Amino acid sequence: MQVPVYMDNMATTPVDPRVLADMLPYFGTHFGNAASKTHAFGWAAADAVERAREEVARLIGARAQEIVFAAGATEANNLAIKGAVQAAPGAHIVTCAIEHKAVLECCHTLEKQGVEVTYLPVDRCGQIDLDQLAAAITPRTVLISLMAANNEIGVLQPLAAIGRLARERGVLWHCDAAQAIGKVPLNVEALGIDLLSASGHKLYAPKGVGFLYVCSRKPRVRLQAQVEGGGQERGLRGGTLNVPGIVGLGRACQLGREEMPAEAARLVQMRRRLCAGLEAALGPLVVNGHADERVPGNLNVSFPGVDGTELLLGLREIALSSGAACSSQTSAPSHVLRAIGASDDLARASLRFGLGRFNTMAEVEFAIDRTAAQVARLRACALAIEEKV
Ligand SMILES: *Cc1c(COP(=O)(O)O)cnc(C)c1O
Repeated sequence: MQVPVYMDNMATTPVDPRVLADMLPYFGTHFGNAASKTHAFGWAAADAVERAREEVARLIGARAQEIVFAAGATEANNLAIKGAVQAAPGAHIVTCAIEHKAVLECCHTLEKQGVEVTYLPVDRCGQIDLDQLAAAITPRTVLISLMAANNEIGVLQPLAAIGRLARERGVLWHCDAAQAIGKVPLNVEALGIDLLSASGHKLYAPKGVGFLYVCSRKPRVRLQAQVEGGGQERGLRGGTLNVPGIVGLGRACQLGREEMPAEAARLVQMRRRLCAGLEAALGPLVVNGHADERVPGNLNVSFPGVDGTELLLGLREIALSSGAACSSQTSAPSHVLRAIGASDDLARASLRFGLGRFNTMAEVEFAIDRTAAQVARLRACALAIEEKV
C-alpha cells in the first residue's frame, strides 16, 4: 500500500491508465486540429472526437449531436444556465441551496441582471421537497437547475420525479451531473433531463474537459453561446477542441458504462465497511446526507467535539477533505452542511471520504485505524483541557 492513500475522489480522480493510453497518440502522431478539413491530420482528430462523442452520448442515453464539449462542468453549467436564461429575458429560475458554486454563482450573476431566482431548501437528508418545487414554479419559470448528486454529501435528488414535474409544467431542467455520471445509471430521456453538465476529471479522465448535453428533440433547447469564436460545437462553444482530453473523456464514459454495476457494488461494500469500522471504534457516527440515496463512494461524517481541519492535520497519511474547506479557500463551514441543518461546530467536525475505482479494502482498513486513533486522541485532548479548566 502506498502512503498517502488517496480518498478524495469527489474532488478529482486519477486518470485511468486505459484512458491515458488512448489519449497519448493525440498529443503525438495525431496532433491535428479537428477543425482542419483539408488534410489527414485534421480528419484523424475529427474522427476521434466524433467517436468520443458517441461514447459520451451512449453513457447518458443521448444522441451524439446533442453533446457539446467544453472545458469542464463549470463551463457547461455557465453555458446551460446563462445560455438558456439570456435567451428569455424577464425569467425566473428555480435551483437549490446545496448546488455547486458553479451553479450558484451563475444564478447570483443573473439575479443582478434582473432575473428572479428561487433557492429551494433541502431536508436534513439533503433532498429537496417535491411539493415545494411544484409550488415554486410560476408561469415565468424557464429553468430548473437541480443537481443529480451532491459533491460534498453524495446525496442523490429524486431525479425521476423532478423530470416528470418539469415536463408537466413545461420548464427546462438543467442537471449538474458531475458527481453522478458513470457512478449511477442516468438516462436523460427516461429522466426527462433537458440539459446535463459533466466533467472528465470526476470520472477518471483528465482535468480541463467536460461536456453539456443539450436536448435537441421534444424540446429543442435553444442556448446563447457564452464562449464565442470559430463556430465550433455548432456555434455553442467556440475554441479549438481539446482532442486528447475529449478522447480520454470518451474512453472514460465507455469504462463508466461497462464497469458501473461491478464498481458500484464494490464501492458500496467499502463504504459500509468504512462506516461500520469507524462506528465500532468510536461509537455512533453522525452521517451527513441520506443513508442510502447517495453515490456509492461517498461517506461524509461528523465527529462531534473534534475540529475537522485539526483532524486532517493529524491524518496526513490519508488524503481527505473536511466540511470546513470543501468549496473555498476560506475556512467558513460548508454551505451544504449548513443547509442540511448542521451546526457550525458539527460542520467543522466533518470529514468527506470519497472512495474511488483505485481504492482497496486494505486502504479502507488503514483509514479506519488512523481516523479512529486521531479522533480518539483529539477527544482525549479536549477532555484533558476541560478537566484542567
Ligand atoms: C467538480 C464539480 C463541478 C466543476 O467541474 P469542473 O470540471 O472542475 O469545472 C461542478 N459541479 C459539481 C457537482 C462538481 O462536483
